[in-house]
Amino acid sequence: MSHLLKFRFNPELHGKKSRARQGICSWHGGECEKKPRWSFFTPMGWQSACGEAREAIEARYGKPVN
Ligand SMILES: [Zn+2]
Repeated sequence: MSHLLKFRFNPELHGKKSRARQGICSWHGGECEKKPRWSFFTPMGWQSACGEAREAIEARYGKPVN
């Protein structure tokens, strides 16, 4: 059972030492030039996502349930 939750990007949702907290797109492993627009809670934990990352996350985990 995988639930995906989607929020407007909010660094406060992410761990204090995470890339996401620093305003980096974590889905692309910190190798993304784009600013995150979304914060996702995925089965693998919190991820910050640029527009392309959003598409990839929703393709992998399905539509957000919230
Ligand atoms: Zn990205």
